[in-house]
Amino acid sequence: MADPTPDPVTASEAPHAWRPARFMVITAHPDDAEFGPAATAAAWIDAGSVGWLVCCTSGDAGGEDPDADPIELSALREKEQRDAAAVVGYAGVTFLHQPDGALVNDLALREHLVREIRTFRPDAVLATDPETLFYGDGGVNHADHRAAGIAAVDAVYPAARNPMSFPWLAREGLASHSVKRLYLFWSNHATARVDVTATIDRKLDALRAHASQIKDPSRIEAWIRPWAAEEGARIGVAAAEAFRVIVIDEDEAPAPEPESSAREAHET
Ligand SMILES: [Zn+2]
Repeated sequence: MADPTPDPVTASEAPHAWRPARFMVITAHPDDAEFGPAATAAAWIDAGSVGWLVCCTSGDAGGEDPDADPIELSALREKEQRDAAAVVGYAGVTFLHQPDGALVNDLALREHLVREIRTFRPDAVLATDPETLFYGDGGVNHADHRAAGIAAVDAVYPAARNPMSFPWLAREGLASHSVKRLYLFWSNHATARVDVTATIDRKLDALRAHASQIKDPSRIEAWIRPWAAEEGARIGVAAAEAFRVIVIDEDEAPAPEPESSAREAHET
């Protein structure tokens, strides 16, 4: 395969090729999914995947005014999140109404997430990497992001696949379900990059829906585009999003891999 990159940065890996037929994005706050994997979600949906978004909180602490009504802010942020989800193309959004700024990976949250996973039955779950305490050495990750990430991991494995976890769910008809892969975003240990050249503009459009949080969309664009371009350069495309991919179950019949990534697939 010819190397298409004349740039100083030489692509050192192939674009990630596996695509889930069904995927679920689990986040702490409205807007996390847009700052996170929105362009990947849009690309997968355009290619035929079905996506569902689960938001653990409704962002009721996402403001500057201590006298603001958190219920009103929640309602506004849920509307913004639904509008953004429609831009990306999700089939639906669930809000779990956990408290913003106080999200805890407890059994109650795990049961909520297991219920969502067993209802929608995704092949892949996308969540914040719970091991990201700091972004490199350039910032602290929000405690809610870490809590949502580890809650998603614990719900995926083993709870969602174990019929004896929350057995009343199976008795209600929500049969156990095995998620094959985790795609962890905002990771310091990215292992895969998805080509989002065709959908990076949709990510920016979706971000604009969060008007209560984003006062100046041009400033957001000024760091989202270079960030995506930097990830894209590693795979020889204009824009990419990066993930730490955890394969829990291999496909029974492996999907055809493009020539350039077949090598890697054979190593596992
Ligand atoms: Zn957040």
